[in-house]
Amino acid sequence: MTTRGEFLKGENIFLPDKLEVNKVVEQINNLKDGETLKISHAFLIVRLGGINIAVDPAIQARSLSEKEENKFIPPSHGEASKSRKKQDGAYTYSMIEAPVEVNGNPNETNTARVGRILAQYIDAIFISHLDTDHYDFELIRTIMETNSNTKVYGPLGWQGVIAKYHSLEITGDNPTDNYLPEYVRKRMKSLSAKSADPNRDSGLNYPNLNPDRTILNAQNGESVSVKAIDIPHAGGLPAEFVQGFVLESKTNRILLIPDAALSPEIIKHIKMNAQGADGNKLTQFIVLTATLNPESFYGILNEQQSYVLRDEIEEGIAHSAYLPLVAAAYTEGETAISIVHSGFYYRSSSEESNLRGRYPEYKKADNPTLKEWLSRLRVKVDETLKEMEEQINTLGPLSISVGRHGRSEIGKLLRDFPIRRRFARKIVEWIKKEGVPDCVLEIIHSPQANEIIK
Ligand SMILES: [Zn+2]
Repeated sequence: MTTRGEFLKGENIFLPDKLEVNKVVEQINNLKDGETLKISHAFLIVRLGGINIAVDPAIQARSLSEKEENKFIPPSHGEASKSRKKQDGAYTYSMIEAPVEVNGNPNETNTARVGRILAQYIDAIFISHLDTDHYDFELIRTIMETNSNTKVYGPLGWQGVIAKYHSLEITGDNPTDNYLPEYVRKRMKSLSAKSADPNRDSGLNYPNLNPDRTILNAQNGESVSVKAIDIPHAGGLPAEFVQGFVLESKTNRILLIPDAALSPEIIKHIKMNAQGADGNKLTQFIVLTATLNPESFYGILNEQQSYVLRDEIEEGIAHSAYLPLVAAAYTEGETAISIVHSGFYYRSSSEESNLRGRYPEYKKADNPTLKEWLSRLRVKVDETLKEMEEQINTLGPLSISVGRHGRSEIGKLLRDFPIRRRFARKIVEWIKKEGVPDCVLEIIHSPQANEIIK
């Protein structure tokens, strides 16, 4: 059996993505309408109606307190496993390494330099949630300070969280509320994500606080709408909600689902958003899933138990690797699905080989077409939703951060987890029994860093 220590020393550890900022600028300039550039991990630039929208900009991931010591942030040259404090109050792990240009300022941080260069190409920023691999406030602040026109939207209530926690980088472990100057804080806006089931979760919509969408004026006279949707996530940092986004112009509809499990709520969102009000289908579907490596549990559990635990967490509550298949089923295979986000614990889920290894091979003789197989899966998922309807209706929202709320929330999580797990497992077991034909895998794409998603 491999021990955890051996695994960490092995070849499986991914290095940070490499970024040549000038090349990235060139790629941004070459983006066509409706195309997306994956910068790294979950950091994307989407071009719509001549507008560049950055989603989840982060090139360093940070743990901001001693409590977060073991937060695993990929990929980080193995440093994430240690999560050691490198200097007072700062715990940073590189997701991107961008070498300084020949005439660059060697004293400028990696993050600030990349932010300063990219700022003029970013018209708006949308942040799905405040887990450290999804927002890098130094980067966001640098972009805001360099480009006073960039609009910035985070999850509800994020301004206060940032003001408090970002200050730790300056003050060590004593947060101060006044770290953020008013001119920066004033520009940090929020959207109020709409729930997948507004009747049941009416309290989650904050109806009087914020609209669920914003309209950006495009250069070509068009407008681009960005709608936020509520995504259940068991994130550890104080983020009120994880939000997904529907980005829509006259000619493109892009659905972005971040860090989501195979949960009934997500499937409802997919069903509701696969087609626009005007009947427009999705042109792009980007889903942020992460696989967990069993090796990360080695040394704590034996090998077999490690696989079981990995599946339990991944399918029931973390970012299910099977969600892209369900997304393909509800878009009838007509929309390319892209997986961004790296795997947890070093191996990247944005790796074709890892993805194929995760899905079992189709072994039956009937050799279904893409549409046939996806429609069988859709029938199974619809059946499961119906079969478990009563139990699903008792579920509490999972979008509340465990870290911020007390025991009662954790109690709710523990109560709901078996139902969520049973739901996910019914679908996953069907997939494992059937196997996944190559024609399905072909429409699921795992772009590398610095790759344009069309
Ligand atoms: Zn994430």
